[in-house]
Amino acid sequence: MAGHCRAMAARLRAWLGMGCPSCWLRGWHRSPGLLGARLAHGGAADRLQQEYDAVVIGAGHNGLVAAAYLQRAGVRTVVLEKRHVLGGAAVTEEIVPGFKFSRASYLLSLLRPQIYAELELQQHGLRVLPRDPYSFTPLLEDRSSPRSLLLGHNMTQTQQQIAQFSQKDAQAYPEYEAFMGGLVLALDPLLDAPPVDTAALGQGSLLQRLRALQALRPLLRAGAGSWTWCRSHAASAPPGLALGWQLPRYYEVLTAPISKILDQWFESEPLKATLATDAVIGAMASPHTPGSGYVLLHHVMGELEGRRGAWGYVAGGMGALSQAIACAAAAQGAHIFAEKAVCHVLLGRDGRAQGVALQDGTEVRSKLVLSNASPQITFLELTPQEQLPKDFIQRIRQVDTRSPVTKINVAVDRLPSFLAAPNARDGQPLPHHQCSIHLNCEGTHLLHQAFTEATHGHPSSRPMIELCIPSVLDPGLAPQGCHVVSLFTQYTPFKLAGGQPWDEHARNAYADTVFDCIEAYAPGFKASVIGRDILTPPDLERIFGLPGGNIFHGGMSLDQLYFARPAPSYSGYRSPVPGLYLCGSGAHPGGGVMGAAGRNAARVALEDFRRL
Ligand SMILES: Cc1cc2nc3c(=O)[nH]c(=O)nc-3n(C[C@H](O)[C@H](O)[C@H](O)COP(=O)(O)OP(=O)(O)OC[C@H]3O[C@@H](n4cnc5c(N)ncnc54)[C@H](O)[C@@H]3O)c2cc1C
Repeated sequence: MAGHCRAMAARLRAWLGMGCPSCWLRGWHRSPGLLGARLAHGGAADRLQQEYDAVVIGAGHNGLVAAAYLQRAGVRTVVLEKRHVLGGAAVTEEIVPGFKFSRASYLLSLLRPQIYAELELQQHGLRVLPRDPYSFTPLLEDRSSPRSLLLGHNMTQTQQQIAQFSQKDAQAYPEYEAFMGGLVLALDPLLDAPPVDTAALGQGSLLQRLRALQALRPLLRAGAGSWTWCRSHAASAPPGLALGWQLPRYYEVLTAPISKILDQWFESEPLKATLATDAVIGAMASPHTPGSGYVLLHHVMGELEGRRGAWGYVAGGMGALSQAIACAAAAQGAHIFAEKAVCHVLLGRDGRAQGVALQDGTEVRSKLVLSNASPQITFLELTPQEQLPKDFIQRIRQVDTRSPVTKINVAVDRLPSFLAAPNARDGQPLPHHQCSIHLNCEGTHLLHQAFTEATHGHPSSRPMIELCIPSVLDPGLAPQGCHVVSLFTQYTPFKLAGGQPWDEHARNAYADTVFDCIEAYAPGFKASVIGRDILTPPDLERIFGLPGGNIFHGGMSLDQLYFARPAPSYSGYRSPVPGLYLCGSGAHPGGGVMGAAGRNAARVALEDFRRL
């Protein structure tokens, strides 16, 4: 089987030309039709109409979710996507012939369970592949068989793994998990409703005040959630742990550097570094940065098949999720088009949004316009500036979009064999191959060093690497015996020191650094590579429309969340332009493949539509 793949790899290498590695892929962004990414329509839906009730700009997963909910409520909706493929940052693309990559996002957990059920995504083809074990951290050590840390859902086995490094940490781990679980449960209700409209509470009409009061309910429930959780876990909580001092501890998790929180719980560096990766993922932040605790929470907030905090692969890649949402929307009657770039939002004399103009000059009229594009594209590029308050424009300009992420998608002709857990002779997948494999995670100091280099404009010399091999659970993604490898790496600054461009040389030099690191843990990796797709922050901005390459449309720091996302007083999906709404990750509750912003925005827009 491996032989089959190697022969194919040799043919591919010859065909693609191996002179300059970054050229291997040129010309191989295959037509989405081959992946079924463009939705097949029939009849009237084949043609773009001149008028709809609602236009959604962008077919990211949030835009598709918003369209599905609007259309379900009887609002005639069209989605217009500028790329050739639906899904935004949740896409499957065949970058190397025969290899299907989740080109940007690659793991699912955060998708709101209501969306899964209400849009009947399973019936529309969504299949998730849970992972257990889920985290593997091999170590580079000067000993004949280096150690590794494998975390999974079986608590006894996980504790045994942790005990290799610290008995004390092994004992503390279940309590840490329960503690974090309590906070997640408390915050959960806040995700599915707009933040409280403080302006309406203070100065609105009686009706507006009543509505704003209603929006207080999730906040109150959040408090009650932590209270209920504390009571229900009273037996397992340590003696004396009660609500009175639980809340200050939760407050600390939200505001402190994650290194401080983890130091309170644990002493073993590989465990702390592994847990800290969730607190810095996608953020230009070190584990020592205050507020990194919230990012960690954001990443343990999800659930998969009822299991809190679990992450899994989507069968067929992340594009299959977007496809399922698009099918749900289309089944209700929504029209969805790719390769329709919106050029600007049309405004009436009264300043209301009236539809959009496309780059090809076509105009589409509508009563509602929801934008799934980032706040920066929506308000600084697509909306006539004279219609927006100056301080609002200023706020949007100030959104922190710094991003450390470079994603590298790699096609390989065999599975990596780690020194810490070598492959068997048959080369078949072992349990750790399905995990998020954390490299350069021997200690939190390494993450901090990698961050510090990037703050000086240099890509990390020893980057934080999360390596995933989804084809281990989903073999259809690659030819027989071959695999797709996803490398989520940081830290790489958007702007390089000395004004150096992120040109071919810089991109390949960074990818080579990453590959050298992997080679140290898994000798033979470099020789297994057939093709690679390097997406630096400027590439993520150019291809996916992510401002500054920020994977969340804007940092998830506390000053850019809830009331302040995307700007204070505009966190409720409405914008200064009546009839124009934000429905993507730049709105509450932020980034990740969650769908919450799309669902919440659709509900707000629907409320207004009914009053028109
Ligand atoms: C490399 C990477 C890895 C990630 N990994 C994960 C992960 O594993 N799990 C996870 O949960 N999250 C992950 N994320 C984050 C997550 O993918 C995003 O936060 C989320 O997909 C954003 O969804 P969205 O619908 O809000 O916006 P987007 O997906 O950004 O969609 C916006 C859409 O609008 C379109 N658009 C923009 N301008 C126009 C225009 N003028 N006209 C028409 N269309 C336009 C864009 O082309 C795009 O399709 C990752 C992100 C990246 C980049």
